[in-house]
Amino acid sequence: MIASGARYRRPEIENLDRFEATSVSYWATTIEATLCEGRDIVLVGGGNSAGQAAVFLAAHARQVHLAVRSSGLDASMSRYLIDRIKATPNIDLRVRTAVTGLSGTADGTLESIDMTCRESGDSHRVDARHMFLFIGADPNTQWLDRRITLDNKGFVTTSSDPQLPLATSSPGVFAIGDVRRGSVKRVAAGVGEGAAAVAQIHAYPRHPSFVVHSDSNGWNVRTLSQAGEAVEMPLTGRTRTSCSTCTSKPPPMAKLHEARRQQVGDRHRLRVPL
Ligand SMILES: Cc1cc2nc3c(=O)[nH]c(=O)nc-3n(C[C@H](O)[C@H](O)[C@H](O)COP(=O)(O)OP(=O)(O)OC[C@H]3O[C@@H](n4cnc5c(N)ncnc54)[C@H](O)[C@@H]3O)c2cc1C
Repeated sequence: MIASGARYRRPEIENLDRFEATSVSYWATTIEATLCEGRDIVLVGGGNSAGQAAVFLAAHARQVHLAVRSSGLDASMSRYLIDRIKATPNIDLRVRTAVTGLSGTADGTLESIDMTCRESGDSHRVDARHMFLFIGADPNTQWLDRRITLDNKGFVTTSSDPQLPLATSSPGVFAIGDVRRGSVKRVAAGVGEGAAAVAQIHAYPRHPSFVVHSDSNGWNVRTLSQAGEAVEMPLTGRTRTSCSTCTSKPPPMAKLHEARRQQVGDRHRLRVPL
């Protein structure tokens, strides 16, 4: 199970860490929206998540100052969001702009944010207590084998099979949480996916793509062949096809596993091709 998460990108702003506990957010929920009621806020980012957050927060904030590094939103944001931003009078889009300074109280409450145009060098100070950062995350997938399919940003892609939605391209390997493409980047979502993946792992040997056959010792094994990989599952059900006692009345599982362990050792344990 791959659960290596992602690193949220942080802009290089001096003393950012001083305000992170109180005034800087990497998401926007109704809790943050309530805190911003009637105030100016600064939001950094030009992607869809930034656009969605800007539109959402504009319903609460007095003014949303949207700072985008590039010269526009066309290359990074969906058209419907660009149109909604244009149609929202209290979103102030500032292109080619970066946050260059933060100042506030000794206890870490933000009071003002400096935004600088990268082209002209002109600076603009906004009195704001909240800053939102939506500049993406880098998945921790550098360590993975190439056989696990990743999307163009490096997140692990998971199956479209409704029975195994958390399965990766590699048989027997599952992915959950922030590292998974399309996951909701929240603690509760990661925990929920973890629980769901456990259920999928239990169901995995019964998946229709497994073929049950007898191995050279006469034991039934299940094999999944997918993307050129073969995975053999240990015997989990009953039987030795040539044994009438086993086929008619399965022996207790523990006995069966022990008998199999002695007979075939580790050769038929689940091989995960990582
Ligand atoms: C500043 C900040 C505040 C947040 N606040 C909230 C919040 O209030 N509420 C909320 O719901 N969500 C919040 N989130 C999002 C939340 O933290 C994530 O959605 C959640 O932690 C994802 O869980 P995960 O298990 O997928 O990944 P992570 O929690 O990132 O865990 C991944 C783990 O894998 C380890 N790892 C990485 N690479 C390897 C490797 N090669 N080998 C072994 N281990 C490895 C990492 O060290 C880490 O321990 C916040 C995120 C940030 C950055």
